[in-house]
Amino acid sequence: MGTAASCSAGRAGSALSVDAARLRAVAVATPVAGAETLHLDEAAGRVLAAPVLAVSALPPFDNSAMDGYAIRLSDLTGDGPWHLPVSARIAAGDGRRLILPQGSAARIFTGAPIPLEADAVVIQEQVSRVGDSVTLTQRPRAGQNIRRQGEDMAHGAPALDAGVALSPPRLALLAGCGVAEVAVRPKVRVAILSTGNELAEPGRALGPGQIYNSNRVLLRATLAGLSWVALSDLGILPDDPACIRAAIRDAARGHDVVISSGGVSAGEEDHILDALRAEAAELDVLKVAIRPGKPLTVGRLGAALYVGLPGNPYAAAITFSQIAQPALRRVAGLLEEPDNWLPAIAGFRYRRSTGRREYVPVVWTERDPMGRPILDRLGPGASAALSPMARAMGIAVIPPDVDAVHPGMPLPVMLLCP
Ligand code: AMP
Ligand code: MG
Repeated sequence: MGTAASCSAGRAGSALSVDAARLRAVAVATPVAGAETLHLDEAAGRVLAAPVLAVSALPPFDNSAMDGYAIRLSDLTGDGPWHLPVSARIAAGDGRRLILPQGSAARIFTGAPIPLEADAVVIQEQVSRVGDSVTLTQRPRAGQNIRRQGEDMAHGAPALDAGVALSPPRLALLAGCGVAEVAVRPKVRVAILSTGNELAEPGRALGPGQIYNSNRVLLRATLAGLSWVALSDLGILPDDPACIRAAIRDAARGHDVVISSGGVSAGEEDHILDALRAEAAELDVLKVAIRPGKPLTVGRLGAALYVGLPGNPYAAAITFSQIAQPALRRVAGLLEEPDNWLPAIAGFRYRRSTGRREYVPVVWTERDPMGRPILDRLGPGASAALSPMARAMGIAVIPPDVDAVHPGMPLPVMLLCP
């Protein structure tokens, strides 16, 4: 693996399957080394570099799950109703270490420490209180409405594993366990660049033969959503071999990942592959049996992971999500795979040529009796088109060997976040 001349990289007509290409891209991605220590307030979305142990048990002490009365079950002798004097009042934050006197109940509120010897809390709706005593008619279960110390997380137990991203619920768990700081992987330094003499940035008038650069903003916005990315936007490069070569060489020196768009096909104006070869890059993926997006390069340029996306916007978006993003996640040190696939069924007909896995932009308004979305196809999903992917609720996947899609056919759909 890893030679530009190798057929196994997907050259000479032997396109790699999408799964094989993804596996290769992930295999050549090296996780960023080292760690930095961050306060929880700064750590949202970052990737844990080491497991985190609970500093404190969660909850830290036995406490009441409800507003009510703490009692000793052993006081409820014979058949009810039972009358108990109220001997104490315990609110949340009460620091006293109380012992519930035998033959009494303690007024207690949610989150308040359970007095020693009490073994159940009866909710206030189930007792009648007259003056300083309460009457119970039903025998409570042992431990009823008591949240036990450490039942959520034991003191010293592993709260989170290395390689997970710190989502809001995970940060909340760490906070609850008394963890204030975490060791996270350094940010992944990602450089993006667009190639093409025809490209202009929106906000400027188009010259003859020009189009607006949509890939730059697509990649920028996608990467901006990843807290573990430190992004460098290297702008637009002209289709000039020397210029491209110098730019990718410099980018690879200061970044962990370089992502370009355009210029990866075999055309005379496609200079990325030649530039990569001239810089002695090792190319692990060259051609993928994917529609849209067959021309696609993944390899190593110096110490950096290089991803050459196709120029066509829909092809760039699909190949980024299916092949580049898993590799990027690996560089970040992430060990968990997101699963945003859903079983669905086609609501459309479509005849196609076989050989490539196809990603079709879809919407749906109805579901079948099993709850599966019934998919409508949005136009032909042409690799240059922007409107279908902008309107899509998801992307359906057609396996390489399927030559016709018909209504009712099961198809998985990848959900897209708005
Ligand atoms: P290429 O891969 O460079 O041959 O480009 C394939 C097609 O994608 C051409 O029609 C390009 O004009 C178009 N294209 C390339 N880069 C971009 C970009 N950054 N934004 C929008 N379209 C692009
Ligand atoms: Mg081009």
